[in-house]
Amino acid sequence: MHTKDLQDSLPPVGDEGTGRNARLEKQPAYTGRPLMEGMSLSLWLQTVRNNPLLNHRTTEDLPEEADVVVIGSGISGSLTALSLLQSPNPPKSVILIEARELCSGATGRNAGHCKPDSWRGFTKYKNAFGAEQALKILANEQQTWQDVVSYIRKHNVDCDLWVGKTLDVLMTKELAETAAKNFSDFELAGGDTSKIEVTTESVEAEKAVYAWDASSLHPWKLVAHINRQSLDLGLNLQTWTPVTDISGSANKWAVHTERGTVKTPIVVHATNAYAGALLPETKGAIRPCPHMCNKVLPPSTFSGSNALHNSYAVIYPEGMYTINSRSTSDGILLFGGAAPNQSKLLEYVAEDQFRRTDDSLTNFEPVTAAVRKLGTEGLEWDDPGRGSRALYDYAWSGIIARSADQVPFIGPVPQKTGQWICAGHNGHGMARIFTCAPALAKLIQGVSWKETGLPECFEVTKERLDRYYNGS
Ligand SMILES: Cc1cc2nc3c(=O)[nH]c(=O)nc-3n(C[C@H](O)[C@H](O)[C@H](O)COP(=O)(O)OP(=O)(O)OC[C@H]3O[C@@H](n4cnc5c(N)ncnc54)[C@H](O)[C@@H]3O)c2cc1C
Repeated sequence: MHTKDLQDSLPPVGDEGTGRNARLEKQPAYTGRPLMEGMSLSLWLQTVRNNPLLNHRTTEDLPEEADVVVIGSGISGSLTALSLLQSPNPPKSVILIEARELCSGATGRNAGHCKPDSWRGFTKYKNAFGAEQALKILANEQQTWQDVVSYIRKHNVDCDLWVGKTLDVLMTKELAETAAKNFSDFELAGGDTSKIEVTTESVEAEKAVYAWDASSLHPWKLVAHINRQSLDLGLNLQTWTPVTDISGSANKWAVHTERGTVKTPIVVHATNAYAGALLPETKGAIRPCPHMCNKVLPPSTFSGSNALHNSYAVIYPEGMYTINSRSTSDGILLFGGAAPNQSKLLEYVAEDQFRRTDDSLTNFEPVTAAVRKLGTEGLEWDDPGRGSRALYDYAWSGIIARSADQVPFIGPVPQKTGQWICAGHNGHGMARIFTCAPALAKLIQGVSWKETGLPECFEVTKERLDRYYNGS
């Protein structure tokens, strides 16, 4: 996030992790296909190594034809496939093609946090799209969070679902003032603040705390459940099958892979940060950006009855980090988006040691820096006189699909009739995709944009892609 931006608007939830930074802006946004070897394993991917869905192939050979080919098995691709298969007139054959293991992109590497933006991004969205769209964006996130929770509860999905308060902690007087202004902007525009708890009196004078409902969960297990449902409905899932190219013309597409070609009238691009490799027209609009997650075992002082019980965004003028204490059922803490973490990554990018589509980094300095920052400036962390210390256990990297205008690209790919996209979730897909993917399935089946209920600013248009196109 830019310090200068904080004078009148805070970054929307999710946008803080996208590495918006003057130094990064100058770097070419190299877009490639997913790394095929040497990638790191996230906490989630580490815990499902014996799950046969990881490398599932429904048929030994890739089918030569299908009604629909979905590319990418994160939440976007998996839920689009399920929504199509569950629709009143489902396609006869749907293939879901994944370059590597099932759900091994951003969804399988994220912080497991589904945090709807309930107010914080309003002013920034209003400045970009107008008040009506800004209200729709925030309402959509609330709806998405509700849909995620009700899907998990309805299907009794075993994915460590937690529902509770997420806290934004503004660490300086100036930030607290900006937050208060953004909050009142939202209220004045008709936004619903009834479920947001604001605390300014019982905390230190310069700080403010905003709390509202959010969730965390094991994202791989959620996606695996979605795919099990789809497989029961006839999905053909093909992992370890990178798509290399798409050729053809309107409704007659050939999806080329390293294992053969599938002919299909309908292609769904659910490739997120990698979208530009198969759809060059999205380059610039959707920009790959490295991000890290850090696993920390809390010290004795923050364990047992003293364990953290919520998720937090700790916001400083120079940046912010998030702490998720409820992603797993055993008290592990996940840190993300830390300012020191980001600057280390940006150094790597600047030195060209880190390709934008490389998710191989593990275990390096940022976690220590992030937690030290917390220790010195935020919570009193270790107690040297007693118990175990914080254990900086493991870090992993993933690739965020940064959106040039902060909102995702959903709908028909311009000038490629029969190709569709759901990508560019700007580091915030957990609070967006559960409405965007079912909406895309409906669009494919002929409903109007209005009927999907999505904010109009999410729609992919030629004008929107052209505005940000940079060719790299
Ligand atoms: C470290 C990190 C932390 C994050 N934390 C959060 C968080 O706490 N909350 C939140 O809301 N969001 C978070 N995000 C963002 C969130 O994970 C994404 O917005 C979301 O998961 C995107 O889902 P997706 O299905 O669109 O993309 P992905 O999950 O990235 O899926 C795209 C898939 O397409 C496959 N693919 C790409 N190209 C090809 C090809 N040519 N052929 C075949 N397959 C291909 C990829 O391998 C990948 O599996 C985080 C992201 C990262 C990286």
